[in-house]
Order: sequence, then structure tokens, then C-alpha cells
Amino acid sequence: MPGFEFFGEEERKEVNDVLNTGIMMRYGFDGMRHGHWKAKELETAITEKFNVKYAQLTSSGTTALSTAMAVMGVGHGDEVIMPTFTFVASFEAIVAAGAIPVLVDIDETLCLDPKAVEAAITPRTKMVMPVHMCGSMAQLDELQAICKKHNLLLLEDACQAIGGSFNGQSLGTIGDGGTFSFDFVKTITCGEGGVFMTNNEEYYIHADHYTDHGHDHIGSDRGAETHPFLGYNFRISELHAAVGLGQLTKLDKILSTQKKHNAIIKAALEKVDGLTYRKIPDPAGDNASFLSFFLPTEDLTRTAHKELLANGLGGNFYWFDNNWHYIKKWDHLKNATSLFPLNPTLVNAIGATDFNAFAQSDQIMGRTISSLINLNWTQEQAEERADKMAKTIQSVL
Ligand SMILES: *Cc1c(COP(=O)(O)O)cnc(C)c1O
Repeated sequence: MPGFEFFGEEERKEVNDVLNTGIMMRYGFDGMRHGHWKAKELETAITEKFNVKYAQLTSSGTTALSTAMAVMGVGHGDEVIMPTFTFVASFEAIVAAGAIPVLVDIDETLCLDPKAVEAAITPRTKMVMPVHMCGSMAQLDELQAICKKHNLLLLEDACQAIGGSFNGQSLGTIGDGGTFSFDFVKTITCGEGGVFMTNNEEYYIHADHYTDHGHDHIGSDRGAETHPFLGYNFRISELHAAVGLGQLTKLDKILSTQKKHNAIIKAALEKVDGLTYRKIPDPAGDNASFLSFFLPTEDLTRTAHKELLANGLGGNFYWFDNNWHYIKKWDHLKNATSLFPLNPTLVNAIGATDFNAFAQSDQIMGRTISSLINLNWTQEQAEERADKMAKTIQSVL
């Protein structure tokens, strides 16, 4: 997953363009920037690379999700269906909008279970937010059909799935809106950053304004621009966008390297009896940043994970016990622990949720290990690691 492994001359060149002019803001200062518009350039490059009409860069993946909530009209009292397995940012954006996160089981895709989604729909449901975890995709055909049938918005959190695709379309560009994160550990990085993508012109125009305090960006005098609605500062800086421009040129190489190394690990693990693998709705579209597999029981999985780490095989994740990625440890959400008063509709909804009702998710996550695929392994290192992983897991089974 981490594009930072490939950081080098290309990124430095782009960043130096910005440092040489000193114009680190994406708007204005036209005369002083000597033609460098890194954020604009990266937005155009993103629309071309991922074949989507519009891209709005933001300061993070989380603010890209918040932007999506705003421009798609999700707010106070609206319900947003999201999975039990994701990163906390998914519900942070929903809660920040004053909306209600409705947690729903995942299935063996490690993404939303469409049956559980349909069962969770109420008259207040406004949006379904699949999260394409660990580089691979949710069942988008089924989810799109559900959204169409019930007239719901589809927002893809593709923060972990840059470069993945489904039936030939880039993840993050298939729903009504989609997001990538360019934080430091994602498939490509800006240091910090994110993007909201859409084919809907109105969402895009609103995103352009919303992420810059509501500035309408008409004319050439920022002070004279009008503010058609409330906004925030979710801007990316030119320095961060510059890093992203360098990284984007490396995406194909990142993906092909991930696929090669992922296949090496998988070939070794396939010789181990008793392992099964995450379901991937379109295997050709896996961005291959992780290899996720299942052991037969939770106990065996815990033991295998401990042994992997003990044998120096870091980068193997047992999300079930992770504080940030699985519902089991999200006590701050379950207790609605906030520094400031939340709206009572949200607090009541959280209070009425049975957070122990996710046996299906527990049963899957309890048996899942995700193995991070690094870019800078040599072929030899990947093969050695694969062999060591297979032997370690075999010894536990
Ligand atoms: C990283 C991530 C985000 C948030 O991105 P940041 O850029 O770190 O704010 C959102 N959703 C998922 C699934 C992520 O992995």
C-alpha cells in the first residue's frame, strides 16, 4: 500500500517548483507563481487517470468524506449505512455532519454485506457508504441496485483502494461520489491530502466552494468573491499537491509491483491446508495492497498472528483487536463521547443501537489476517517472506 516507499526525484522536482516561487497556496497570487498550479494540475491528472469528470482535492481523506456529506446534502438526522470494518474516519465524517452512522455487517468480501444493507434501510436512510477496505472492492452491482431501488445516494470510501477497479471502472468513480486519501500510508501519498470525485457537476461546484469557506471563485479578487453558502477550510496546499503529482506518475508501477509481490505471498500460502481467502468481486480490480486470508477459528488466527510477529513477520494485521479499524474497540462512538454537545437525534440513535449485534462480522474478522504488501522487497525477499509465512502458519494449524 505505501507509495512513500517510492518517494524520490519526481516528487522533489515538483516540490521544488513550489519552493522556488514560494507560493504555497492553491488560489491566487497569479503573477508570482510562474505558471505553477500544482493542485489544479493534480485535479486534472486525477480526472484523466481515473476517468471521472470532476475531482476536488482536500486536506485529507477525512475532509474529502466531510465534503461529500455536505455536497450530497447529508446532515442532521439523516442515516448513513456504513460497515463495521473500516477506519474511524468513515463515521467521523458522518458524525461531523450531524448525521447518524448505521453500522452494518460485512461479509467475506470484508466490505458491506448487501443483504445486511437492505435490512438496515429505514425512511431516514439517505446514503450507503461502502468502504473498499485493504485495496479490494465491495459488491458494487448489488449495492447500486439497492440504492436505485430505494432512491439512496452511493458514496464510495475508496481511501484504501486507489487504482483498484470494478468491471473496468476505477473504484471511487462508480457511485454518486467517491473519495481517496493521500495520507502517508496510502497507495499514493501527498504527505497529507485527499480527493472527492464525482461525475455530478453540481456536487463538484459545491465541493469547490465548500472546501474554501464557500468562496465562489468568480473573478480575480478573493476579497470580493461572494459566499453562496457556509463552508470550511479543507484546502490542500501546493506543497502537498506537488508531492501527489510526483506520486501519481508512479501509480502504475506501484500497482504492478503490488500485484507481483501479492501473487508471490499467495502462491506460498496456497500450499497451506486450511486457509481460505477474502472474496474479491472482481479479482482483476484488486489493487493488491494487502493479501487477506481466513483461518478456521478465532483461536488459531490469534495464535498464528502472534507467531507471525514473533518470527519477525511484521506487516501482518489482526484487525479484530485493532483500536481503529473494527467496531469492537470503538467505545468513543458507542458511548457518544464528545468534547462538545452532540445533537440529541444522533445521541439518541447511538444510544438505541445494539452494538453487540454483529455476530457475522465478528465471526469473519476474528479469523482474518491481512498481510501488507511492500513495494521495495526484492523478488528474493518476497519469496523468503512468503516461505516463512507459510511455514509459520502451517506450524499453528
Ligand atoms: C485513511 C482512510 C480515511 C481517511 O483518510 P485521512 O487522509 O487519513 O484522513 C478514510 N477512510 C479509510 C477507509 C481510510 O483508510
